[in-house]
Amino acid sequence: MPIPASLRRAVLRGGAMSEYTSRRDMILSTHAVVGGAIASLFPSHPVLVAVAAFASHFAIDAIPHWDYPLRAIKLKRDVNNRGLPADPRLFYDLALIGFDACVGLLMTIWLFAAPATTGVIVLGALAGMLPDPLRVAHRMFPKQPLTTLQRFHRWAHTKRTLSWPLGISSQALFAASVSWIVLTVG
Ligand SMILES: [Zn+2]
Repeated sequence: MPIPASLRRAVLRGGAMSEYTSRRDMILSTHAVVGGAIASLFPSHPVLVAVAAFASHFAIDAIPHWDYPLRAIKLKRDVNNRGLPADPRLFYDLALIGFDACVGLLMTIWLFAAPATTGVIVLGALAGMLPDPLRVAHRMFPKQPLTTLQRFHRWAHTKRTLSWPLGISSQALFAASVSWIVLTVG
C-alpha cells in the first residue's frame, strides 16, 4: 500500500525537526577571536600559540551558548557524513560555516593583527576553530586519534543550550570582553 502523502510529509518534517534540535557547536567566529587574542599575547611563539588557541576551543565550548542550526551536516554521535548528498541543504551549511569562519578571521585580523604579526594571528584564529572541522572529519573518518579527541570534545562541551537572543549576545559579549582585556592589558 503506498504511503499517504500527508504521512510522508509529516515524517519528513519530523526528520528535519530532529536535525534542527540536535546539539551543535559554538559559533566559529567566537573561537577565531579568542584564538587571535591568545596569539597577540605571544606572537613570537607560533607553536605555543597553536597549542593554546586549540586548547581554548574546549574551554569556550564549556560555556552555555547558542549555535546556528545546520541542515545537512550532522554532528551527532554515530552519524556518518560520508556520502552526504550534494543537495541545497549541504551548500547552505557550507556557505554558513564558510561565512562564519571568514567573518571570524577578518574580525580577528582587524582587532589584533599588525603587519608583522598577521601570520601568527591567523594561525591562532585557525587553531581556535580547528576542533570543529575535526569533528566533521571524525564523522567521515572515525579513526584514531580523532576518536579520542572527539570523546574529549563531547565531554568538554556544555550540555546546556541557551535560547538564541541570549545565547548569541552572551557570545558576542564574551568575545568582546576577551578582546578588550587582551588589547588593554596585553
Ligand atoms: Zn567545539
